[in-house]
Amino acid sequence: MAPKLELSRRTPGAGAARPDGLAGIGPLPEAGTTATWSVGARVTLAALAEHPDIWRIFPALAQAAAAAAHPPQPRLATVAGNLAQPSRCRYFRRRDVQCRKKGGRGCFARIGENKYHALFAGGICVSPCGSGVAVALAALDARIVVQSGRRSRILTVAQLYADAWSGATVHNSLKPGELVRRILIPVVPGARSTYLQVSEKAESDRALVSCAASARVAGNRLAGVRIALGAVAPVPWQVEEAHRFLEDRPIDAAVAEQAAGIVLRGAAPLSANGYKVAIARALVRRSVQALVAGAP
Ligand SMILES: Cc1cc2nc3c(=O)[nH]c(=O)nc-3n(C[C@H](O)[C@H](O)[C@H](O)COP(=O)(O)OP(=O)(O)OC[C@H]3O[C@@H](n4cnc5c(N)ncnc54)[C@H](O)[C@@H]3O)c2cc1C
Ligand code: SF4
Repeated sequence: MAPKLELSRRTPGAGAARPDGLAGIGPLPEAGTTATWSVGARVTLAALAEHPDIWRIFPALAQAAAAAAHPPQPRLATVAGNLAQPSRCRYFRRRDVQCRKKGGRGCFARIGENKYHALFAGGICVSPCGSGVAVALAALDARIVVQSGRRSRILTVAQLYADAWSGATVHNSLKPGELVRRILIPVVPGARSTYLQVSEKAESDRALVSCAASARVAGNRLAGVRIALGAVAPVPWQVEEAHRFLEDRPIDAAVAEQAAGIVLRGAAPLSANGYKVAIARALVRRSVQALVAGAP
């Protein structure tokens, strides 16, 4: 039986209903209505990946969750745990290494093993955000509700990682004691979304690069386009200029390639991760074309 999640409907400006962990799933939005789907922080990735309605309404999220929840990862991994997961940088994970992220002085990856590191970085740390779910949520224009005691605030996905972009010593913008409580995702009539990732050997490997995209689709034209790249920056990488470029423009392979060029402009590969540029370009191109083709 499909796990129970919560789908809430609201009018713009009204508060979305709060799921309590794995609460029940409500009726799906009717065509033409605006709604916000609210998912609790403790919902598991496996629950998202196994729910047929998520595949239908937010295929990008279902695909990202399926990739992240794939064995041998524990089936108990949660949405919040995925968003707040710490760096996978091998130097960060070694106890005997005191790199900049742990308060040391330098970044060893910049001159050492950097095959899995970022193409874009705002500071010295080039450890990329490892959450594929964050990439999907960025493309879906989600909001993250975080809480500390009685105080709560609502962040965009970009804001959730902004501090990791500008400061080397954190993985995200959560303050000490602050917890992710729930995620709010707008249900946009006529919208499609997709998530693609390239891994090294098997489906269960972490993404070398991932890409999510969403838009309203009319024929071969897109509106409200949002593209996010994963594993290339300490934040899901989004370029507004590319979104504007694609807006209401007939999409073909050449246009999709141009958009990919805009997204990757300014990429600064390290000694061993230049291969990511070609993968990222291909994923952006394919994601844009998949939106028009209606392929998930
Ligand atoms: C081999 C392997 C492959 C993986 N591949 C992928 C992949 O392809 N894509 C991908 O996206 N992920 C991938 N992951 C990550 C995995 O899916 C989990 O998301 C990750 O390991 C976190 O697991 P968890 O949910 O048990 O969180 P935990 O390990 O419990 O927590 C992770 C961090 O989040 C914090 N945290 C937990 N809940 C909250 C909250 N409510 N508010 C604030 N902070 C919180 C914890 O304090 C901790 O710091 C992979 C992991 C492994 C081991
Ligand atoms: S990339 Fe970040 S985590 Fe890795 S060695 Fe450099 S400073 Fe440390």
